[in-house]
Amino acid sequence: MRAYIEHGMLNLPQPVKLYTIAPLFRRERPQSGRTRQHHQFDLEIIGDKNPVIEGQLLLIAHKFYQEIGISVKIKINSLGCIECSPRYKENLVSYLKGKKAKLCPDCKKRLIKNPLRILDCKEEKCKIISAEAPQIVDWLCENCQDHFTKVLEYADDLSIPYELDPCLVRGLDYYTKTVFEIFPESSENDSRRQIALGGGGRYDDLIYDFGGKDTPACGMGLGIERAIVQLKENRVEISKKQDFEIFVAQLGEKARVKALELFENLRQIGIKAAENFSKGSLRSQLELANKLGVKATLIIGQKEVLDKTILIRNMESGIQEEVDFSKTIAEVKKILKNK
Ligand SMILES: [Zn+2]
Ligand SMILES: [Zn+2]
Repeated sequence: MRAYIEHGMLNLPQPVKLYTIAPLFRRERPQSGRTRQHHQFDLEIIGDKNPVIEGQLLLIAHKFYQEIGISVKIKINSLGCIECSPRYKENLVSYLKGKKAKLCPDCKKRLIKNPLRILDCKEEKCKIISAEAPQIVDWLCENCQDHFTKVLEYADDLSIPYELDPCLVRGLDYYTKTVFEIFPESSENDSRRQIALGGGGRYDDLIYDFGGKDTPACGMGLGIERAIVQLKENRVEISKKQDFEIFVAQLGEKARVKALELFENLRQIGIKAAENFSKGSLRSQLELANKLGVKATLIIGQKEVLDKTILIRNMESGIQEEVDFSKTIAEVKKILKNK
């Protein structure tokens, strides 16, 4: 948010969409799944207050985990805005004060410093108390209520697996309106006992609080190490194979030069080509091509150099065809289209 202000991103077409993939460092006590250093994939959409932004982020998160092989459920809540949230907090505090004796020592402190976090406490006795506590959704102003309803409608329409969690407050208190956390589908129902794979929400006041112009924003962070742990738990097979499409093989010095050039031309038009130019034997090159699972191998030998031709070997059928060298790219495109 500081970068947004500092670099005048307000002058760019809004919303500004940013991402980061970087290591993050944590000062507080490390525990299982919460290491000193971890990596996170962040998306931020700044300058748009429309609930479709949440819809888009939730969809991206859902699709991302689906694609890598993790089924998730997303817990959602709304924390309201500067208008309705203080009224709720007041009500919550007066409820909690009546139960103060039964709260854990940490929560007794939270009652003064950050009462919302009590809803988040992992102590059994505090959970019993927060289960009965007033819920923010009943205290939202009309604007926040509308916004939250629309976010949930997007989630419904996009078939995003979500559930409402009135105790979801997120660790940081800059959030406004929507907050969400992503859990493995198989995890226990009680989100407070599980470490989220990722999460996010809206932080409409943060840029203003940092001295910028009043600018709404919404974002999320997905933990890379946590996704890896989950992939291992789900025993998801990670394909080690790079998806090469074409192999360029050569035989002889002149052919090698021609193959080098062809290889670069293929790469330039976006074809994923593989090679091993230092290998002399055609057999070992074809073995490698086989291992890589390419569709076809392009073979240039001394004879082909002289004839201005090339051999195209279909790796599935094993059929080998001699074509005019000038038609190589067209033929390759034809083969890849039929895959
Ligand atoms: Zn509100
Ligand atoms: Zn507690």
